[in-house]
Amino acid sequence: MKLNQNFKNIKESYLFAEVADRTGAYAKLNPDKKILKLGIGDVTLPLAPAVIEALHGAVEDMSKSETFRGYGPYEGYEFLRESIQGYYRARGVQLGLDEIFVSDGAKSDLGNILDIFSKDNVILVPDPVYPVYVDTNEMAGRKVLFSNATEENGFLPMPDYKVKADVIYICSPNNPTGAAYNKAQLKEWVDYANKLGAVILYDAAYECFISDDSLARSIFEVDGAKSCAIEFCSFSKTAGFTGTRCGYTVVPKTLISDGMNANKMWLRRQATKFNGVPYIVQKGAAAVFTERGQREIHKNLDYYRRNAKLIADCMDRLGIKYTGGKNSPYIWLKCPRGMKSWEFFDYLLKGAQVVGTPGAGFGENGEGFFRLTAFGSEEVTKEAVARIEKLLTE
Ligand code: PLP
Repeated sequence: MKLNQNFKNIKESYLFAEVADRTGAYAKLNPDKKILKLGIGDVTLPLAPAVIEALHGAVEDMSKSETFRGYGPYEGYEFLRESIQGYYRARGVQLGLDEIFVSDGAKSDLGNILDIFSKDNVILVPDPVYPVYVDTNEMAGRKVLFSNATEENGFLPMPDYKVKADVIYICSPNNPTGAAYNKAQLKEWVDYANKLGAVILYDAAYECFISDDSLARSIFEVDGAKSCAIEFCSFSKTAGFTGTRCGYTVVPKTLISDGMNANKMWLRRQATKFNGVPYIVQKGAAAVFTERGQREIHKNLDYYRRNAKLIADCMDRLGIKYTGGKNSPYIWLKCPRGMKSWEFFDYLLKGAQVVGTPGAGFGENGEGFFRLTAFGSEEVTKEAVARIEKLLTE
């Protein structure tokens, strides 16, 4: 037996472990100090009441033989796919029901989708970015190239025709930079992908934070995307499903290469390796798209948006440059006084007892930057902002 040698090439993911270690060590030495965490990427508000009611109803369904469900369709129940179809239709995007695949979250599908791509594809990933894209490709032994997301390009790299990529990752609004592409910029990526015969894997996990109309919430709002893009969506940040687990992936039927159809291949892959998302969870997810569900989840999203604004306003007052904060739950700031990411982490922890995430952990271009998130409570966010402001104006 030989184990997958590619695992030797994957970088140890020490970012959050190191954050926890340094925070833990400080807390041990300073037990009287209250530490405030603005580093987490997890939501804190509970599920919306409409979702909870639907979950309860689905549990009841499972208790009666007339409504009990066993194995469901690999691609998800029609009631949920119809709701998702309606969500896209409201934005002018027409999708076939057979182009929508319900998943247990965007992370799984972002990794699993690689099953349908050839091993010798050239992969293009922005730096900095969500580490899953690089690690999943390296596990499979693929070559990864990086596009530089920098202060100069507003953390939104644009296509470079000298680079011949086959699989292009775009995450917008981006984790960690909070930067989001507008439709004209996405059109340039779509044109590049169509010209090269490449595919864009579009991670829209944070689409629900977009409030600016010039920004796309789906890549399929851009002409030409249906022949070159796959979109990954999640109920995690939209509706607090990080622990409940549900998402969906859109694979257009018009995504074809060498006579092979990506949509058919994905269905085949799912039918082989996936037995669907629990009926109960899908019922909860469908409730998100009802009028009441939308009202309730937007109330929660507004809560996080207000937190984001509190942090962004503080950065404005301090004259610190940042991206995100608007159309995103993340605030990606340039460490003040020329500090490096981990230096600033220690400075904030010791000086204000506030924990964030060092940008260097998301890629080389993240050095000198720092991520704060809006997912904490309003109370914690307000106090953290006040402490940061005091520390940096001293
Ligand atoms: N994509 C991005 C950019 C993320 O930041 C995350 C989670 O933090 C995910 C995907 C994972 O989403 P899910 O919870 O649906 O697996």
